[in-house]
Amino acid sequence: MTSDAGMTSPRTMISPDEALRIVALYATPLSSRPVPIAEAVGRTVAEAVVADRDQPPFPRAMMDGYAVRVASAGREVAVIGEAPAGRAVEAAVTEVGCLEIMTGAPCPPGTEAVVMEERVRRTGDRVLLPDRIDLGENVAPPGSDCRAGDGVLAAGEEITTMAVAALASFGRSTVKVVPRPRLAVIVSGAELVGAGRVPRQAQIHDSNGPMLASMALAIGLEPPPCLPAADDLESLSRCIEEVADRDIVVLSGGASGGRYDLVRRALECHGAEVIFHRVMQKPGKPLLFARKGHRLFFGLPGNPLACHLCFQRYVEAAVRGMEGIDPLPVLETGRLEESIRPKGGRTHFVPAIALLTGEGPGGWTVRPLPGASSADIFSPARANCYLAVPPGSAEIAAGELIGFLWLAEAAAGRGARQGPCRVRQEECTPLGAGRGVHVRHDGSKNEHG
Ligand code: AMP
Ligand code: MG
Repeated sequence: MTSDAGMTSPRTMISPDEALRIVALYATPLSSRPVPIAEAVGRTVAEAVVADRDQPPFPRAMMDGYAVRVASAGREVAVIGEAPAGRAVEAAVTEVGCLEIMTGAPCPPGTEAVVMEERVRRTGDRVLLPDRIDLGENVAPPGSDCRAGDGVLAAGEEITTMAVAALASFGRSTVKVVPRPRLAVIVSGAELVGAGRVPRQAQIHDSNGPMLASMALAIGLEPPPCLPAADDLESLSRCIEEVADRDIVVLSGGASGGRYDLVRRALECHGAEVIFHRVMQKPGKPLLFARKGHRLFFGLPGNPLACHLCFQRYVEAAVRGMEGIDPLPVLETGRLEESIRPKGGRTHFVPAIALLTGEGPGGWTVRPLPGASSADIFSPARANCYLAVPPGSAEIAAGELIGFLWLAEAAAGRGARQGPCRVRQEECTPLGAGRGVHVRHDGSKNEHG
């Protein structure tokens, strides 16, 4: 780690990639705990889940129709009973006697196939069966979905909504997962007033507090407490103590080097170690990153766009790391709609609108939003992504490919996967140890029955 390994001092300005790498190193998965399965969706599972019985547990009718023998094809046979779902029927199917059966019911003894009701002609207690009946037609054999001992989920996999159904089908009510980190926001600045109050001259409304809370919600976190702090050490320290139970503390404002920028000192007084302070990026140069034990602190610049970018790129990475997900953001590629000039030695993150205009890589056209300085909110308010303009001097021409980062709310519907998940090694039970079981990621069926 940077400070431990003495690679850089916290005062050295580092590159945005280095900053992200350091955040990723310190953001370790939280200790796992059981949660109700319906609340586990999107979480990283921290235990191996093994099927405790065959699925389906009995030969199951897949259609409403008639349980028959194949030798009865083309003949009229008696309907000797009914097999509804939820009841095991003892009467046996014969060549001259079939049972009416409902979807989901266990097939009665002697069943070789279930003929759909649309394919028979029923008169009273007799049915005329079709000329062709295939062995096993419309019958799901026991264990055809999954066999007792099969791996349902391996530690480190993400729980999907379908996986919740799989867990429920084994009677599970809870599952061990890596929890979501608990985040708190502290907003400092003597010039700020909250909503509903009229700002006096020299005052402005706090926009970072609501913005950061909404960004936490957009990535699935609980609504964070949002504490207002004054620009003095005592007030900041009190707020930091108040949220000492939180995994991640995001502080807005007061992170630069000015006389009233006291976030760094307040964190040091709290016993946090500053890992880096200043990143070669625009906006967001004064970004501060500190830790105390597993807890992480981000001092974000007060300028709204800088504050937004730093949460989007670095705080979200820390959240993913603590959730056991690959922390590094996924960059998409798009074609520039208009030329753009790099900002010399700093990586420039430019709010932009990505529009789908073609197919394949570069199918996205990205339109940089003009004139957004780090203090601006209005022009970037329609952005759905940030362009990552690398440092340099040569203009990047319209039509060239460029990397961009989705805003969380825009990425949500795109099903972007973050790659492999991580859980604390000491908490992982190996899947089906010693049982020769396998995890099926491809949805393939067992050869069985
Ligand atoms: P600071 O990082 O505290 O030096 O603040 C930099 C700029 O961001 C100043 O112009 C502040 O007025 C503005 N600013 C700081 N905090 C907020 C906030 N919560 N909402 C809106 N603007 C802010
Ligand atoms: Mg300030």
